[in-house]
Amino acid sequence: MFSKRGINIGDTLSFRLAVIYAGIFALTSLLAFSVFYYRIHSLTMSQVDEELIEEVGEFAEISEEDGVEGVRGEMSLEIEEEDPKEIFLRLYSGDGKVLASTDLSSWGDLPVDREAIGSALKRENVLKTLKLPTRDYHARTIFASIGPELVLQIGMTLEDAEDYLQIFRNLFILLFLAVFLLSVFIGRYMGKKALSDVEKVTHAAREISRGAHDMRVDVGLKYREVRELGETFNRMLDEIHVLIEGMRELTDNVAHDLRSPLTRIRGSAEMALLKETSPDGFREMAAGIIDECDNLIEIINTMLDITESEAGIMDIARDEFNVSDLLSDACEIYRPLADDKEVSIRVEVSGGLMFSGDRRKLQRVLANLLENAIKYSHQGGEVVLSASISESVLHFEIRDNGIGISEDDRPHIFDRFYRSEASRCESGIGLGLTLAKAFAEAMGGGISVVSSPGAGSVFSVVLPIMV
Ligand code: ADP
Repeated sequence: MFSKRGINIGDTLSFRLAVIYAGIFALTSLLAFSVFYYRIHSLTMSQVDEELIEEVGEFAEISEEDGVEGVRGEMSLEIEEEDPKEIFLRLYSGDGKVLASTDLSSWGDLPVDREAIGSALKRENVLKTLKLPTRDYHARTIFASIGPELVLQIGMTLEDAEDYLQIFRNLFILLFLAVFLLSVFIGRYMGKKALSDVEKVTHAAREISRGAHDMRVDVGLKYREVRELGETFNRMLDEIHVLIEGMRELTDNVAHDLRSPLTRIRGSAEMALLKETSPDGFREMAAGIIDECDNLIEIINTMLDITESEAGIMDIARDEFNVSDLLSDACEIYRPLADDKEVSIRVEVSGGLMFSGDRRKLQRVLANLLENAIKYSHQGGEVVLSASISESVLHFEIRDNGIGISEDDRPHIFDRFYRSEASRCESGIGLGLTLAKAFAEAMGGGISVVSSPGAGSVFSVVLPIMV
């Protein structure tokens, strides 16, 4: 098959479309012509037959009026007017004897058709097409009774009719070839036009695979299907871009945030090796290393949880539980921390709210928010937990009147390892809110904050009830 830059054109969709298009066109026009030709052919033949029938009718009248002699006379007159190469007449008696005949020299050997004469005597017109070996064209003939025991045969060349039909056939062949070629070109053009948008998508994909990662498919494509493909393709690229950026950020963060504790571990081990001689000193170093390792393990586990839930591969359990109990339990767990800071905690929930969802994840979201609310409260501050359910959605809020969050920090607090300057004096790794947001979203909900520096913050979580 024709090959373009090593591509087999026979394999291309545009080529195949062109072939299918041309094939359908060819078949349809062949069918249309066949029907048309059949109609023309039968019309032409019936015209010839009508002429023959009319002719024998006239002879029947003459035979009735003037007998055999009259018919003979009319036969001579007829042949004078017409070319004997185009028409012949033969008169038979009832037993098949030729009573009169026109000049048959140009018609070759014309046998007497007794069967046709027999049928004609029964007053049935017999119409036949003859193929005579000496003649290029067929002839149409009629046998008809024109009087008692008198049968007339008239034969007529089909030269005109056949020439006329031949013109049609030639015309059709020419037209068919022109239409076929045209349909190949139109099919190929239409296929190429329809697929030109697909080629644009392919081109963009090729460029992206060569490193043009910021390139996108032009969404102003003509055809809706391909436009949707382009849009989906662009969306997929955007998502991949976000994932790559996330991974890059994560790697940077991991490198940055794991380096400090590891350096500290190494430093204390080194110091102990160089300076310590007492078992107590080594014990103290081991305890410090365990603390740092716990810290590292927590960071790694939290990051794994965040990554898993952001990737949408985390299992979400479906538990039935009372939200009021969950909030009260969380308060009890964090009360010692709150008491140390002299911060009061309150739960404001009307009645027992039953919720269906992942209890453990909700607990962790709540724990992070509650710990922050206590951590970032002033001495004597107040933290209030409230919850309500409306339209199959659980809303809960954690309100504090602590240090609040500045306008500059607010857009970043859910980012990995982000910690505001104001929070540096408190312990933390900057992953609590990232985890809370990732879990809330993995459960189909979300988290938002309203805060003003110095006045406190309200973190709101919405979670749909699982059905
Ligand atoms: P961490 O508390 O470990 O620093 P988080 O991810 O939980 O990390 O919080 C990120 C940042 O958001 C905190 O460093 C702090 O600046 C801010 N923040 C979170 N919760 C509160 C709050 N209730 N009040 C004031 N600031 C808060």
